[in-house]
Amino acid sequence: MPIAHETVLELDLNALAHNFKYLKSKVREDVKVMAVVKASAYGGDVVAMAKKLSDLGADYLAVAYISEGIALREAGIELPVMVLHPQSTNYESLVEHCLEPSLYSEFVLKEFVATADKLKQKDFPVHVKFNTGMNRLGFSEEEVTKVSSILNKTTAVKAASIFSHLSASEDWKERDFTLQQIHTFERIAIKLFDQLDYQPLLHICNTSGIINYPEAAFDMVRTGIGLYGFGNDKTEDQKLKPVGTLKTIISQIHHIKPGDSVGYNRAFTAEKPTKTATLPIGYADGIKREYGNGKIGVYINGQYAPIIGNICMDMIMTDVTGIDCKEGDEVILFGGPQHATDFAAAGNTISYELITGISSRVKRILIGS
Ligand SMILES: *Cc1c(COP(=O)(O)O)cnc(C)c1O
Repeated sequence: MPIAHETVLELDLNALAHNFKYLKSKVREDVKVMAVVKASAYGGDVVAMAKKLSDLGADYLAVAYISEGIALREAGIELPVMVLHPQSTNYESLVEHCLEPSLYSEFVLKEFVATADKLKQKDFPVHVKFNTGMNRLGFSEEEVTKVSSILNKTTAVKAASIFSHLSASEDWKERDFTLQQIHTFERIAIKLFDQLDYQPLLHICNTSGIINYPEAAFDMVRTGIGLYGFGNDKTEDQKLKPVGTLKTIISQIHHIKPGDSVGYNRAFTAEKPTKTATLPIGYADGIKREYGNGKIGVYINGQYAPIIGNICMDMIMTDVTGIDCKEGDEVILFGGPQHATDFAAAGNTISYELITGISSRVKRILIGS
């Protein structure tokens, strides 16, 4: 790994490849993989990572919004792309860029069919989402006949897939609920297949679904967090490799006396002679104030240095008393010696929020190939 000279998020493409292969090995060989690259590939480098996933054999990509899909097309990525939450004001540019919408209600399905008709499309691929218990987006089971009749009346669109989303696939205590979601999905699929004269692909599993319910892989699985190295479970975390390592450097070292304070609101006061290191990263980079005042620390030359005082917009101060370090030395926030899941937990959140929250100000560096 290269040594950091400024704040960087290092992204390891070899780790991405390892995770892709690991997750793929969990399901039947013929199951397709949809790689979820929304939110800049969970805070990474979406173009480089989507290209890598395409080389690795991903069958589909998924993004949340149309603008994210357009960025992939503009970078020359040709894989089919599902847009999880398209907004109707951009339907025309979605069609223009051959992106495939997820349609989740009568209103948006009819609206999209009208756009596809107007643009003289034939069999434009769409993905129909059903709600099986998450109660976020999706047609209800009672609406199956309505969906099939809309689909059967138009030649402008064709369902490429039928899907649903699990709301607690990582939680063993919710196993009964998850199995119920899977059964509801099966009932919906059977009924729909009966009413259509073709069979769209079926998919319901996210990363934890792949890990905990591989028998429910159907035709395709959708994985996001697992690709980036997190399995929502200690054992799985060990089999996956975190793609991102957040690094910075020491800007300045101070030696302070008992009674001296550090940072805004004097939130830290030294009780003994203390050596502090100031780092060029702060809450504007995605390390929230929640992590301040000793909740978590960083690693410097292999040693743990707790964050002291309040996190500033652009800087963090750490206690490096007893650590052999100097200005310019490399600092690791997460990745390497400190798992992002543990870092996130110290700030009352999850890996997903931590890694997608690293702001665009932090330079992304690719390593591996
Ligand atoms: C984000 C998302 C995923 C990916 O979930 P992971 O837990 O990151 O694997 C899958 N499906 C849908 C509908 C999503 O919104």
